[in-house]
Amino acid sequence: MVNKVPKGKTSQVQDSKQDELRDSVKWLRLAVGKIQSLAIPASPENYSIWYEYFSGRKPDLKQAMDFRLAKKLPFTPQIYRELYATYFGDGPEQQLAEIRRAIRSLISRLSSEISNLNEGMDSFSGVLSDCETLLESDPEVSALGEMIQNLLSETRQCRSKNHSTLAKVALLNKEIDTLKDSLQHMSEEVFEDALTGVANRRGFNIEIATAFEAYQSEQTPASLLLLDIDYFKKVNDDYGHLVGDRVLRFVAETIKRSVKGSDYVARYGGEEFAVIFPATNLVGALTASRQVLASVSGKKLTVSKGGKSIGSVTLSGGLAELKINDTLESIVERADKALYRAKSAGRNSIVTDEDESKSHIA
Ligand code: GH3
Ligand code: MG
Ligand code: MG
Repeated sequence: MVNKVPKGKTSQVQDSKQDELRDSVKWLRLAVGKIQSLAIPASPENYSIWYEYFSGRKPDLKQAMDFRLAKKLPFTPQIYRELYATYFGDGPEQQLAEIRRAIRSLISRLSSEISNLNEGMDSFSGVLSDCETLLESDPEVSALGEMIQNLLSETRQCRSKNHSTLAKVALLNKEIDTLKDSLQHMSEEVFEDALTGVANRRGFNIEIATAFEAYQSEQTPASLLLLDIDYFKKVNDDYGHLVGDRVLRFVAETIKRSVKGSDYVARYGGEEFAVIFPATNLVGALTASRQVLASVSGKKLTVSKGGKSIGSVTLSGGLAELKINDTLESIVERADKALYRAKSAGRNSIVTDEDESKSHIA
């Protein structure tokens, strides 16, 4: 008799993680099916609503939706917006991260189903090579007859198998494509600022957490720059909000273009931006930050092509390097205080948290 070895803690944790993932993949599949059958957009909100409905983890949401379903009340875009606002007000990031993980897992599961199906197709080539060997050995007529029978039946089987396998592979590929699109769409919607196309605050929070981890595990430095457009209210007042929005897009694109690809640009608030410089100390980040300011202020803007001139816009920036025991709040606070000093010192400059009271003009 084989004694059962009791499971260690790690393996129990792994098992429960596996169970969680299996459940989330199951709910996701049901949600995808529903979204496709209802022909509604595969937006993060709609995914979340149907995913959570099938999970049954939010009884109030389930009850509200069951009521609509039972009464055959329509699910309009307005209803989806209301459901999302009511039941996903706080902390939707974690749930979206869970759905994204499930999508990835489902994609890899479907891909391995495809390769299993393709493997099944290889049996025919095995039969063919058997025939080849037999033919080389100068076979008896009876053996030849048997071989031909064999070949015919395999060919027939293979043809029908081929048809259904190809259809299955095509279906799985289609499902994978839909999931990949949703994943792309979700990542973009969740972490991208709709107006400027750079990352949003959610993306910023995740990226700074990554910088914290790199600092804690490998002492890799990182710096944070907070930027604020100078006198931006005046741009809105003088030229209107739409022009203000275009200026915001210009500033975001210019910041992005003037830093390295590994630097992370996010819209931090209305007319505030943040740049995370990974693996960069204060001195290096100061040089990069000054380049950002020069690129933005170096361009003369006009209301439209060849139209009225707005002049140039300038930025003020506060810079801080990550320190031991820093929290998200403490590093942001240091950068913010430095930014405040840059404003008081006359704007269009970068001040670091090391500059104490004196300001550092770019
Ligand atoms: P300071 O140099 O002190 O930063 O002056 P400011 O005028 O930039 O500062 P203030 O904070 O008074 O004004 C910020 C303005 O940014 C006010 C707000 O209407 C505008 N704003 C914030 N978000 C948006 C947006 O998405 N689009 C537009 N057009 N304007 C925005
Ligand atoms: Mg501001
Ligand atoms: Mg401002």
